Amino acid sequence: MENIKALDEAYVAHTYGRFPVTLVRGEGSLAYDEEGKEYVDMGCGIAVNSFGYSDSLWAEAVKEQLTRLQHTSNLYYTAPCARLAQLLCQRTGMKKVFFGNSGAEANECAIKVARKWAQENKGKEYATIITLKNSFHGRTLTTLAATGQEHYHELFQPLTPGFVHAEPGNLEDMERLLKENRAAAILVECIQGEGGVIPMDSDYLRGVEKLAETYHVLLMVDEVQTGNGRTGTYMAYMHAGIHPDVVSTAKGLGGGLPIGACRMGERVQDVLGAGDHGSTFGGNPVVCAGALSIVERLDEAFLRSVREKGDFIRQSLEGRPGVAGVFGRGLMVGVEPDPAFGKTAGEIVGECLRKGVMFLTAKNRVRLLPALNIPMETLRKALNVLLEVMGEKA
Ligand SMILES: *Cc1c(COP(=O)(O)O)cnc(C)c1O
Repeated sequence: MENIKALDEAYVAHTYGRFPVTLVRGEGSLAYDEEGKEYVDMGCGIAVNSFGYSDSLWAEAVKEQLTRLQHTSNLYYTAPCARLAQLLCQRTGMKKVFFGNSGAEANECAIKVARKWAQENKGKEYATIITLKNSFHGRTLTTLAATGQEHYHELFQPLTPGFVHAEPGNLEDMERLLKENRAAAILVECIQGEGGVIPMDSDYLRGVEKLAETYHVLLMVDEVQTGNGRTGTYMAYMHAGIHPDVVSTAKGLGGGLPIGACRMGERVQDVLGAGDHGSTFGGNPVVCAGALSIVERLDEAFLRSVREKGDFIRQSLEGRPGVAGVFGRGLMVGVEPDPAFGKTAGEIVGECLRKGVMFLTAKNRVRLLPALNIPMETLRKALNVLLEVMGEKA
């Protein structure tokens, strides 16, 4: 067998710290490496494989479209793209969708919408986008500028200008920035994912909505990680009952294929016109056919099962030895290790991997993003391994 690890290290850019595992196949919430060792996957490709590996409905939809028409330019209509856009609007009450290929692209679109809307409705100088400190919005130079974490910025100056960062959870700081800047929009995550699974409370999100109204700026929500059923509602902003103007999403939408979507509400639905934005692959029919099979299944009964599994995770972990706190919502969970037990989140994840369970980290927390349809028995098994590792002092 070829040494994949050596090959990868020789030829793939070293932008990732990889675990010492080469995955070759998966089924549901289980993945297998080169030697046939089985892992429970509690990260599902960072919230991407919404229904796990080789989900039969998704795979059928993809295969069917793949052998019919794999791609056409955006100069022609295709049914999967149009149907998916309709479904994404029906599920949210929003009016238009732009498709790209990633979360960063979905956010780029949101930012372009905000800038053009403000230019036409407020004046050219109203270009500032307010995001939150500790946020994550992507890796392109513009979405990096939106990302409120200095350490991502340092090596790549100058970034796109026109971004300022408010203290999360602090409405006074948001209002101060609205007064000090000529703002076009506010862009927030309902739960900061890469930032450490840090939920914004509903009162704060409603306060932000009110401020956006008062200062006449757009309210935009980054649902790249929290969307598509992940937190137990179709979109995470629905927990707070707010009505954003723009909602970006990606990750779990495609069930494992690259897609990003930027949804636009009533007052911004016609901001982007012909030639204002584009993407060669955006709205690809194979990817959209797969995404349709995902979103169609996120009905109320299914979302309830996501909430129940989330509650089960919290009940299983809260107050147990080695666990300092459990954060998040639905099947997006961050577990903070008790420092008295002497293990970092990274060390815990490494130990769990050796015991056959794949977790993620987010800052100083162990992050759980299992497939939304993970069987209870598999979930229980993964949590037992986590409790065993966290409850044992270093
Ligand atoms: C992952 C993520 C992104 C970036 O998505 P990519 O598909 O990697 O470009 C943006 N925003 C949030 C909240 C994310 O979690």
